[in-house]
Amino acid sequence: MTTRAIAIASTLACALLSDSVGLAAEDAVTGHALAVAVEQEVIATDLRIGGDDKQTRFVVDLNRKIDLAAFTLADPYRIVVDLPQVNFKLPAKTGAQSRGLVKAFRYGLIMQGGSRIVLDTKGPVRIEKAFVLDAAEGQPARLVLDLAATDRAAFMRNISLQTRPAHNTGAKPSEPPVKADGDARPLIVVDPGHGGIDNGTKGSGGELEKDIVLAFSQALREKLESGGKYRVAMTRSDDSFIPLSERVRFARTRGAGLFVSIHADALPRKEGLAEGATVYTLSETASDAEAARLAEAENKADVIAGVDLTAEPNDVANILVDLAQRETKTFSMQFARTVVDELKSAARMHKHPLKSAGFKVLTAPDVPSVLIELGYMSTKDDLKQLNSPAWRARTAQAVVKAVETFFTPRVAGAGGGHR
Ligand SMILES: [Zn+2]
Repeated sequence: MTTRAIAIASTLACALLSDSVGLAAEDAVTGHALAVAVEQEVIATDLRIGGDDKQTRFVVDLNRKIDLAAFTLADPYRIVVDLPQVNFKLPAKTGAQSRGLVKAFRYGLIMQGGSRIVLDTKGPVRIEKAFVLDAAEGQPARLVLDLAATDRAAFMRNISLQTRPAHNTGAKPSEPPVKADGDARPLIVVDPGHGGIDNGTKGSGGELEKDIVLAFSQALREKLESGGKYRVAMTRSDDSFIPLSERVRFARTRGAGLFVSIHADALPRKEGLAEGATVYTLSETASDAEAARLAEAENKADVIAGVDLTAEPNDVANILVDLAQRETKTFSMQFARTVVDELKSAARMHKHPLKSAGFKVLTAPDVPSVLIELGYMSTKDDLKQLNSPAWRARTAQAVVKAVETFFTPRVAGAGGGHR
């Protein structure tokens, strides 16, 4: 080999070497960039609405660019924007503003890994644009939604044309099925109300119903499990949103012996003061005006979270439900009465502690179901109790006692065993 050839060879080797080093470095950089992208939390820092009753622009400032899926829902008119999980660090009053075509809006978790913004619009609207801008010229990344007024016919036509993300009917409970595996113990489904984007009612200090009922449900679960007599499953054990129909399905598919939905009520200030716990069962007509008001409010959970209500089961199913429900209704009433009796010794009760109304979450035809309103978040003393771990423990224990009474075999002829 000549000197020149050696020189060329070494240059080549060097080039190859540096090239491969270059590649490796690039890979490492790309890999790193990817890792950062996966881990970097998405934060919404501000939100603005501009425009009028014809055209409205909705803008959210973000710390980085993300993907979105926006679609419309009818009855009531809503715009749903699905996003990856976003930490909404927005000014406190955000959501209270109403402007242009936007009547109200809310935001929050719809499932682990996914957030959602739901806008109630003043009438039928068209999504003209929905995109996220990269940060540029000193401006943060921005989610922009341009809405224009339209008529109902056009709105409904658009709905039939739009392609929706697969998960738009809402999240499914995250808890895996509880397999009986020959375990004959009854399954109690504990259902903490609300969650995620649906906060439920609010206390004067900003306490959220969804948090209070989750804490209570967890205490109830522990107490039920500690006796070893029951299996327990919860429709949610974190801050996710679960549609009402999913909660019902959750109990039915697992063959639950009992379904206990946990909530806390609140009264608008002008409606005066109410206090204490109330136990509700399902009925077609509400037992009084307050029960009707409450059922309407609780049934709104799906609307709040942007669930498509037109996808709900049809009337044939309802007829079957009516037929099968009769015995279940009796068992639900028995359990509700027992809960009231037990709660009396542990918690303050509402002056009419046993009521009924058309709660969607209580419609499992084959699972005895009750809904417990623990107290009023709008009443100072009730709120204090709802926040008290001692009160929680005492009240959960009372519910456990009611469960035990319910499952105690009855005297012959009384019908006996529930599943
Ligand atoms: Zn509630």
